[in-house]
Amino acid sequence: MKVTIHNATLELVEGDITQQDTDAIVNAANRSLLGGGGVDGAIHRAGGPKILEECRQLGGCETGDAKITTGGNLKARYVIHAVGPVYRGSPRDAELLASCHRRSLEVASENHCRSVAFPAISTGAYGYPLHEAAPIALRTVMDYLRSHDDITLVRFVLFGRAAYEAFAQALRDLTT
Ligand code: ADP
Repeated sequence: MKVTIHNATLELVEGDITQQDTDAIVNAANRSLLGGGGVDGAIHRAGGPKILEECRQLGGCETGDAKITTGGNLKARYVIHAVGPVYRGSPRDAELLASCHRRSLEVASENHCRSVAFPAISTGAYGYPLHEAAPIALRTVMDYLRSHDDITLVRFVLFGRAAYEAFAQALRDLTT
């Protein structure tokens, strides 16, 4: 599914984020930035040890923030390591989830990226329900694209049918 937002394309695909050829891919990292399971493990496996080496120099990352490394052996030139919230069922969850998406795009802009791929941050080990996370992630990206001209493609790469369908439903709700 694909929509146009201002001068950009916002796209949803089902797939594996490590295979994306966008300028940057976003990692759903933890605050240590020293690796983990899920999409984080997959990115470090596919990108090689160089990424973890760079991460060690970054001194961790606060929840709601994002930091950048090169892409190692990945097709993407950069990995943007974003830290989403552990889901607690509090209003703060949504703020922090929005913030890590916004910060990822700001860091992408600072590094002259024109295309960025996101996973469904916080919806795995961190327990954020897909149907709650999807509209927050999408709305935050749409707001950013409406107010910035430099990024012309944002692709959400959803792992499995359920994640794709949750994002597709949320995008339909936001655009109709
Ligand atoms: P978090 O700790 O932020 O919840 P996880 O990595 O556990 O991070 O999960 C975040 C999302 O990433 C989940 O929806 C999970 O299914 C998805 N995911 C796992 N592996 C990949 C991958 N290779 N590409 C894209 N998404 C992935």
